[in-house]
Amino acid sequence: MKATLDHVGIAVADLGKALAFYRDALGLEIGAPEEVPSQRVRVHFVPAGEAALELLEPTSPESPIAKFIEKRGPGVHHLTLRVDDIAAALARLKANGVRLIDESPRPGAEGALIAFVHPASTHGVLVELKQRAEG
Ligand code: ZN
Repeated sequence: MKATLDHVGIAVADLGKALAFYRDALGLEIGAPEEVPSQRVRVHFVPAGEAALELLEPTSPESPIAKFIEKRGPGVHHLTLRVDDIAAALARLKANGVRLIDESPRPGAEGALIAFVHPASTHGVLVELKQRAEG
């Protein structure tokens, strides 16, 4: 199975302050924001070479990102590996006894299919698998 680092997700409590660092101080370009209703977040992709940073801003106190920030403060939330066939990847992980948060893929940002793997099986890192939208 081939997997490519797609992006690193960063939970952001104050978008203005995050932009002051990533955009103004570092000089990176920030993509147009996109709402992901299933996660109750607004995401801002920041291209960084072959991969990207993904600034995650909660849109509701019920958002998993809001809960993450409440518990641990802002910071690295997950990393995302891109695969060609997410269903096959999940089947392979399951066959290897890996604990999955999502047993089947669901819609993510940019029309992609995503699924999360439980940190209990990944040495403490929330890992997201992603299959790009067709075309
Ligand atoms: Zn992500």
